[in-house]
Amino acid sequence: MIVVKKFGGTSVGTPERIMNVAKRCIEDYNKGNDVVVVLSAMGDSTDDLIALAKQLNPNPPKRELDMLMSTGEQVSVSLMAMAMASLGVRAVSLNAFQVAMHTTHTYGNARLKRIDSERIRHELEDRKIVLITGFQGVNKYDDVTTLGRGGSDTTAVAIAAALHADTCEIYTDVDGVYTADPRIVPNAKKLEEITYDEMLDLATLGAGVLHNRSVELAKKYGVKLIVRSSLNNSEGTIVKEETKLVERMLISGVAVDRNSDRISVIGVKNEPGVAFKIFDVLAKAGINIDVILQSYGQGDTKDISFTLPSDRVDEAVEILNNSTDRLHFERVDVRHDIAKLSVVGAGMMSNPGVAAKMFEALYNANINISMISTSEIRITVLIDEKDAVRGAQAVHDAFGLED
Ligand code: ADP
Ligand code: ASP
Ligand code: MG
Repeated sequence: MIVVKKFGGTSVGTPERIMNVAKRCIEDYNKGNDVVVVLSAMGDSTDDLIALAKQLNPNPPKRELDMLMSTGEQVSVSLMAMAMASLGVRAVSLNAFQVAMHTTHTYGNARLKRIDSERIRHELEDRKIVLITGFQGVNKYDDVTTLGRGGSDTTAVAIAAALHADTCEIYTDVDGVYTADPRIVPNAKKLEEITYDEMLDLATLGAGVLHNRSVELAKKYGVKLIVRSSLNNSEGTIVKEETKLVERMLISGVAVDRNSDRISVIGVKNEPGVAFKIFDVLAKAGINIDVILQSYGQGDTKDISFTLPSDRVDEAVEILNNSTDRLHFERVDVRHDIAKLSVVGAGMMSNPGVAAKMFEALYNANINISMISTSEIRITVLIDEKDAVRGAQAVHDAFGLED
């Protein structure tokens, strides 16, 4: 059996934890399995590296930031190889160059394009445990790229797909996927199973337990994903195509995203092509837009508001302000203190009234909604950031998701 195991920052945060992970992987290896391990940087070291960079330059060149951030994962894999060697097991650490993990060129948010699995297979045939740096890749200029925060999950799934692994286990600091972030909603319940589509929406809408692109890839290549704790032996959550619980579950989870901002472009012309021009200039810069609201328009002008990741907002404003030859508007307003609150569930497709129930819960909690967006299996509202935790709890309660 080929097993890919990924361990997040907390799981490799100290030398003791690295040793524990080493032992856990060796148990699997001793059963005769081929074991590939993908690691994140230790603890908060990626945050620390970014903070260090900002002490020298508040707006560091993205290429150099990737060069810096990618060092964290290299620390983890080399230390893990040393830990395994001390336990008498042959292991080899490989970075993105050694594996040949090809990505698009975008620094800071590159997408994986192709993995040459030859080196990994060769090392596995030699009965070594293969330790691979998560989060990083190589672009066509032979530069280091990173896959976006939390991207090690995506590395793991991509490798599992390339090797046709039997499972991809994501080890983290919670026991699995819960009906909400247990740090925000303490009585959230662990899910036994969840579908790729629901997990993809939850991850995209703020459930940071999995990087959303890892779920996208898992779905595309049919990789069986298991999310479980590195600190205990509990069962975890299986992410897969069909779940037996799906019929019964109206809502599978609530997600909160506090890392989005809202931009309002005020006073654009009330004529065809305006939305296209705004979103086209932003798309060309690779900025993902989420909830969109366009005002009805009075007379000659209208307003268009949308949400986007907080770390792209300055860039987006600059792009808009530099596009005044194509785009005419009065001004751009930015709000940082907003949060997106979403409910996700395949069951809502066949059950009307989910939106009403969510809005009622927020009304009862006296929380104002400023924007709404829906799809077949999710409803997202924009609320004030200060109401995010209370709102998540209220909605979670209203749908009876508690343990
Ligand atoms: P790792 O470093 O292992 O990748 P992350 O911090 O990226 O760990 O992800 C785990 C965290 O995700 C948990 O500690 C939890 O606070 C958060 N989280 C958010 N939403 C959920 C959810 N629905 N279920 C479980 N955990 C969640
Ligand atoms: N170390 C990277 C981060 O902190 C990648 C990851 O943890 O998945 O974002
Ligand atoms: Mg993570």
